[in-house]
Amino acid sequence: MNDCIFCKIVKGEIPSNKVYEDEKVLAFLDIGPVNKGHTLVIPKKHFTNIFDIEQDDLDAVSKAVRKISPAIKKAVNADGLNIMSSNGKAAGQLVLHSHIHIIPRFKDDGLKHWPQSKYKEGEAEEVKKKIKENL
Ligand code: AMP
Ligand code: ZN
Repeated sequence: MNDCIFCKIVKGEIPSNKVYEDEKVLAFLDIGPVNKGHTLVIPKKHFTNIFDIEQDDLDAVSKAVRKISPAIKKAVNADGLNIMSSNGKAAGQLVLHSHIHIIPRFKDDGLKHWPQSKYKEGEAEEVKKKIKENL
């Protein structure tokens, strides 16, 4: 994936503000932060998203998220963090190299969560059944 922007960051071909690195993982500041300290944690190896990432690499990313999160919270004096990932274009994934967003949140930052809905009668059971059948 030569034209992948995050692969280029891993290779040092384009600059980034790195906050953490290990054998499998890189973390750097998002270029367009939702709030200051917004960080992306990525596997160094190219995967598109949750649907193709190898378990070892996901484990390494997860471990790094656990390590980095309190450091970000302290660094920007955040009141909380959102940890999220968009998987697939329909989910809003713009960069097709697997990544986790760590987004610092502040009590009055004005950001809203997405709207919720309700299941119709019997729908939750049907969805639950289908998910379990596909595991
Ligand atoms: P998404 O794929 O929607 O989860 O978001 C991709 C994120 O990557 C966005 O928040 C961008 O601001 C961020 N981004 C894109 N290019 C760069 C870059 N060169 N350095 C840091 N962050 C970037
Ligand atoms: Zn890539």
